Amino acid sequence: MTDSPALPVSDWPVLHPGWVWLCGAGPGDPGLLTLHALNALRQADVVIFDALVEPAILDWAPQAEHIYAGKRGGKPSAVQRDISLQLVDLARKGRRVLRLKGGDPFVFGRGGEEAQTLVQHGVPIRIIPGISAGIGGLAYAGIPVTHRDVNQSVTFVTGHDQSGNAPGSLDWPAISKGSQVIVIYMGMKHIARIAAALLDAGRPASEPVAIVTDATTPRQQVLETTLATCTADIAAAAIEPPAIICVGRSALMRRTLDWQGMAAGIAPRDLDPLGRGRPAESA
Ligand code: SAH
Repeated sequence: MTDSPALPVSDWPVLHPGWVWLCGAGPGDPGLLTLHALNALRQADVVIFDALVEPAILDWAPQAEHIYAGKRGGKPSAVQRDISLQLVDLARKGRRVLRLKGGDPFVFGRGGEEAQTLVQHGVPIRIIPGISAGIGGLAYAGIPVTHRDVNQSVTFVTGHDQSGNAPGSLDWPAISKGSQVIVIYMGMKHIARIAAALLDAGRPASEPVAIVTDATTPRQQVLETTLATCTADIAAAAIEPPAIICVGRSALMRRTLDWQGMAAGIAPRDLDPLGRGRPAESA
């Protein structure tokens, strides 16, 4: 590492006083930060972070003040407004503000709302995308979010709306029919209702489901189950959010591609879980 080039800082964007950079921190593993995120962490003098930002990531900004913007216990919308206005306030005080959010700031993360408030108040912004848990988290479980033999589309859904209810706006029959793979964020609270809706819509009881909790962190756990049994299995395993739920046959690929298991010496359980023929046999 010592011989590798330092970030060519002069060519990289400068976080000026009075600006807010809205940045994705990825799903957990600090190695999944982007170089733009690292560049931002090095320059910020205040970092406002969410509950899902892995604490080790803040170690990359030792010079900055760290402010926790968790939303537990308050009315979500009121608290969200407070966070946005706090960003405006810090920018107006001439701070170099880094707003750090789990995953990607524009994927179920209210990044759009915060950015909108900043723009409405005349605060200059930069957006730094991140690796979303629904893609990177599944990859760490050995699950490709698309796989040629399984799906030509993928649907990302949120398991509850702003009020914490199961989202009434989702057309589960349409999603069920239109998408072979469904990736559910924030789905643990209402998993029983979601699974029932998908079964009602005609998805098979035996459909594979994988649930990845604390994905990409040292605490990562993966539960492999089915649509019919997932609710009971979650309760039995006593797993807790945050979790990404993958519904669809691509979840079976973990049997071949559990690369973390392989690194720990566990042989793949099945080299052809989709039954499409081993490479040597295929045309
Ligand atoms: N902007 C984030 C999502 C925020 S919504 C992103 O792009 O990833 C919060 C939900 O994201 C959680 O309820 C969970 O469903 C999912 N999530 C975020 N980080 C996760 C992680 N490390 N492991 C599993 N799920 C995660």
